[in-house]
Amino acid sequence: MDQASLGLGLWSVVCAAFIVLAVGAMIFVGRLNAHLRQAKAVLEREVCQRKAAQAQLAQNEKRLRQIIETEPECVKVHSRDGTILEMNPAGLQLVEAGSASDVIGISVYELVAPDFATAYRSLVEKVFAGAVEKLEFEIISLKDRRLWMETHAAPLTDSNGIVTAVLAITRNISAQKRYEQQMRQQYRELAHASRLDTMGQLATMLAHELNQPLTAIANYSKGALLRLRNSQGREEVIGAMEHICAQSERAANIIRSLRGFVSQTEEELSCLSINEVVEQALSIAQIEALARNVSVECEFSNDLPSVLGERTQLEQVVLNIVRNGFEAMEQVPASGRMIKVITRSGSNGMAHVRIEDTGPGLPPEELDTLFTPFLTTKRAGMGLGLSISRSIIEAHGGRLSATQNVKGRGLSFTFDLPPSNEQRVLQ
Ligand code: ADP
Repeated sequence: MDQASLGLGLWSVVCAAFIVLAVGAMIFVGRLNAHLRQAKAVLEREVCQRKAAQAQLAQNEKRLRQIIETEPECVKVHSRDGTILEMNPAGLQLVEAGSASDVIGISVYELVAPDFATAYRSLVEKVFAGAVEKLEFEIISLKDRRLWMETHAAPLTDSNGIVTAVLAITRNISAQKRYEQQMRQQYRELAHASRLDTMGQLATMLAHELNQPLTAIANYSKGALLRLRNSQGREEVIGAMEHICAQSERAANIIRSLRGFVSQTEEELSCLSINEVVEQALSIAQIEALARNVSVECEFSNDLPSVLGERTQLEQVVLNIVRNGFEAMEQVPASGRMIKVITRSGSNGMAHVRIEDTGPGLPPEELDTLFTPFLTTKRAGMGLGLSISRSIIEAHGGRLSATQNVKGRGLSFTFDLPPSNEQRVLQ
């Protein structure tokens, strides 16, 4: 092969290689374009979807805002330390704020009444632990008015599920509280009227009961005087004086327990020993028990939880039930008339009281109607004693019921009261 034909051959190879490379490059560029177009389309679609999602989000947020703005209850958001971050117009009205700037940024504890601050703090901590909580509490509005509120609080979380704030929906329950207060007052007056009625019925027996220490005091005084006049021994006079002291104490005790029982003043809630409450009520009932020849027996447990309550009201329950028992046993021969009061620690740590009589009892179908107001089988009865007693026990967080005695005749009334460490407010 000569040199010219070799050069031509090489040239042809280079040209062919170049053509192959050029075609390859064109195919590559074509494919790249196609990919780019596809990627662009995907990107455009995604941008479109994102825009649509953002528009939807904005619309949802707008709708949510509108709902919150027009929501008749107070909607507020505050941080863990209580800083108010948001409050809707209903909320502003509720706390009597002129504008949002009056409350945004201040602490919720500037509104919560000081005596409810601890309860509110505990609600916030529970919400930050993820719970949904409810609380009734009082606020002091920006115009210095105390108002009752009920709030439902839930956690607000970020995208990682971490609680960042409290979302609370609060409503004004002052009117409802006022109504409840009025009802409580009326019920108190009714309970007081019932106690006065009981005292009216016991008046003759009480006069007799008081007469005994008074007569004894008079007699011992006369004796002491006589001895002094006759210049008798000092020891004998001292003995008489000691009797006088003991009898005056006895009379004073009777009067003290009666005065407490008929008093109308609203009592403070206190931690009570239920055994002492029963003993106090029985000391009043004892007067009637003697007159009616009823023996009263007690079986007290020393292992009882103390209960949180109003002493007079709980005494009233025991006295009502015991006196009903006395009346129910009227037709029973004197030797068989017995009231037994048993106290023990009941289920769930409750203080349990059971009062049994040996009267005729009642058929099972009549047991629950006993508590119906104005239902009485007595000529002078009002039919309110048991319904008032049930309301008192329920207001103390307990339950009063009647059952036919399993052994022997008669009825048993039982009630349970929660221990004082279960913090409660009387209903
Ligand atoms: P009241 O004593 O004025 O009648 P209560 O509400 O205390 O009103 O009692 C309602 C009724 O329940 C009584 O009239 C009586 O018929 C019945 N009752 C109450 N306690 C007993 C009891 N221990 N045994 C039988 N019946 C009873």
